[in-house]
Amino acid sequence: MSLEIRSTTLLKKVMKNYFTSLDKADKVAWCTSVGPAELLRSFGFEVYFPENHGALLGATRQSIEHIPSAIKQGFSGHVCSYTTADIGAYLDGSTPLKKHYGIDSIPKPDLIVYNTNQCREVEDWFTWFADQYECPIVGIHPPRYLNEVSQDETKLVVEQFKKMIPICEKVSGNKFDIDRYKQTTKLSKEATMLWQEALRTSTAKPAPFNFFDGTIHMGPIVVMRGTQEAKDYYTELLKELNSLVKAGVGFVQEERSRIFWDGMPIWGKLRMLSDLFSQNNSTIVASTYCNSWIFDELDEENPFDSAALAYTKIFINRSEKAKMEFFKQWVSEYSVDGMIFHDSKTCFNNSNARFGMPQRLTEETGIPSLVIEGDLCDLRFFSEGQSITKIETFIEQLESRTMVMQQ
Ligand code: SF4
Repeated sequence: MSLEIRSTTLLKKVMKNYFTSLDKADKVAWCTSVGPAELLRSFGFEVYFPENHGALLGATRQSIEHIPSAIKQGFSGHVCSYTTADIGAYLDGSTPLKKHYGIDSIPKPDLIVYNTNQCREVEDWFTWFADQYECPIVGIHPPRYLNEVSQDETKLVVEQFKKMIPICEKVSGNKFDIDRYKQTTKLSKEATMLWQEALRTSTAKPAPFNFFDGTIHMGPIVVMRGTQEAKDYYTELLKELNSLVKAGVGFVQEERSRIFWDGMPIWGKLRMLSDLFSQNNSTIVASTYCNSWIFDELDEENPFDSAALAYTKIFINRSEKAKMEFFKQWVSEYSVDGMIFHDSKTCFNNSNARFGMPQRLTEETGIPSLVIEGDLCDLRFFSEGQSITKIETFIEQLESRTMVMQQ
């Protein structure tokens, strides 16, 4: 049997409070998951993240019901299934927030902000909603696919951040206050560092925290950056994980293989996959996805420049060369035995198996890799039986390899 994380009870309370506050909020800004949440909070906006809603639609498998409604509006079924599920749910007048939190609908935006540091899809998705709600919209368009992020690039992004200020002032009715921005940046930095420490507890053997738990516990670092509540939550989670490491307790006790997951989660299959790995005494110890909300460059003394750097440097926004360096570092840090690349049908932006990365990584590190095909929300693209067979065979190979290496 795999380990249950006790902090999950607190997490549910924290997330419920977040959604309840949103429902009652005076001013709401919508934001992409790696958008400038700290700046928006400094103006007093409650911040809502449509991608989180997309993940909820996927995890509850409601996405399947709603994607066809977006397709009828002209969106391709091969476009980001967060986008199609979210637009479809809106057209169908449905939301999982109702069942989970007693909230009738997603919050109406006063302002919509996106950052294309992750993909261009967010621009189309958010613009569609801005048209529906007749709401002001601001886009940040940083340079993409960089090997290194230089001052020239961050300067461009800082200028775009600063252009948001008059719009935020007008919509919120509050003047920009640098001290408030420094404070939200400080809180965001503290929470993100705690989240990083929580993830790093899985460098221990056995690892206490697996990828599937991580996708649930990352809720506050995605939707509550810049709040005291997010910081407090990760303080508690880290305490629990550290005590598990100290007691030598792992996600699976007899950990025979340690795997890295690249790409999006398959939201509707988290439980099935988590059980599959634990039944095979294997742990997904780390992932690109959970690591995507570590913004260690944030610095409250220099909030604009540091945020521009932190949000432009993220993994998804980088070149293949830069991504390879991230992978090599994670493989060594987490003592990884094998890599799984999830080639997500509707998110090529967060799928890294299409340009030879698995082969190159194996050549450079000797670590075997497996590619599985699936999707974040559209389960029509995921063949469960075939994937289980592939994963079990891969885990067996990893175990045999370890035995040979130990001889
Ligand atoms: S990164 Fe992928 S999953 Fe996320 S919004 Fe963009 S296309 Fe969709």
